[in-house]
Amino acid sequence: MYDSIIIGMGPAGISCATYLKRYGLNVLVIGKDLGALELAKEIENFYGMGKISGHDLALKGIKEAMSLGINICHDEVINIDYLANGFNILTKKNNYDAKTIVLATGKVRNGFTLAKNFEGKGVSYCATCDGFFYRKKEIAIIGYNSYMLHELNVLLPLVKKITVFTNNNELEVELPANVEVVKDKITSFKGNDMLEQIICGDKTYNVEGCFIALGSQNAFTLAKHLGLDIKNNNLVVNDNYMTNIPGIFACGDVIGGMLQVAKAVSDGAICANNLNNYIRELKK
Ligand SMILES: Cc1cc2nc3c(=O)[nH]c(=O)nc-3n(C[C@H](O)[C@H](O)[C@H](O)COP(=O)(O)OP(=O)(O)OC[C@H]3O[C@@H](n4cnc5c(N)ncnc54)[C@H](O)[C@@H]3O)c2cc1C
Repeated sequence: MYDSIIIGMGPAGISCATYLKRYGLNVLVIGKDLGALELAKEIENFYGMGKISGHDLALKGIKEAMSLGINICHDEVINIDYLANGFNILTKKNNYDAKTIVLATGKVRNGFTLAKNFEGKGVSYCATCDGFFYRKKEIAIIGYNSYMLHELNVLLPLVKKITVFTNNNELEVELPANVEVVKDKITSFKGNDMLEQIICGDKTYNVEGCFIALGSQNAFTLAKHLGLDIKNNNLVVNDNYMTNIPGIFACGDVIGGMLQVAKAVSDGAICANNLNNYIRELKK
């Protein structure tokens, strides 16, 4: 079991891992891509770096961490569950246990805005949390990959019927035989108090609920699943960078504030310091 698994290999996650390694903890970093820096053409306000592309800065940080012996794996987290003594992290390729988790997953940018008006009124982001409310109902799930499949498998035993809407994405997984697929682009959601219909152009589908599992797990969907506090689209942490759930920490863009590399790196370092104290207490 790892002392800590850090989700995110951006500046916050890598900085956190570097300090945790220095403290002698057994750490793993899991990241699916280079995060926000991949989109930054040129950075010229990070200490000592001069002008550098976001891509190069991200890789520099990752390579440096690897040279210090930090394990970094290129993978996508699709679920986190509680264990008696920590957490289980399910990725596309593997399964890991850790005493603590750091969410350094960056700013959440891919909300499904079309569904906004029906959140909590038939639209949910967490099968494990809300699936029970849709027992024996006819529902939809929006998604196309292993993250969607994970959520689908949670819902299947509960609901009467489930239709997958890929929203114009290529289906990346094999579905159970009894599941229907709609590949069209979703144009709107309709209903009175509660969601009643999903509209794809000139086609209307009646539904009694809808789960959104598009793209990958992000801080928002992971947080809903784990019962973490969210405010203004940011994870809420205390002065020790710990969320409302003991053992789950967060740092970088995901907790809001100044969305800059310098702040993410600083967050990661301070978070590591507090996490180290937390682990030492656990070991007493
Ligand atoms: C276009 C653009 C230009 C910018 N320009 C500047 C600039 O000039 N100067 C500056 O200081 N800042 C700039 N920024 C901001 C800067 O990039 C961010 O503040 C910084 O990268 C935040 O670091 P982070 O580690 O918190 O998140 P990120 O760097 O976004 O890293 C998030 C990590 O989480 C991983 N992740 C998320 N979900 C999962 C999952 N389910 N499984 C596995 N991994 C997951 C991602 O793959 C990624 O590795 C810019 C940002 C953008 C978008």
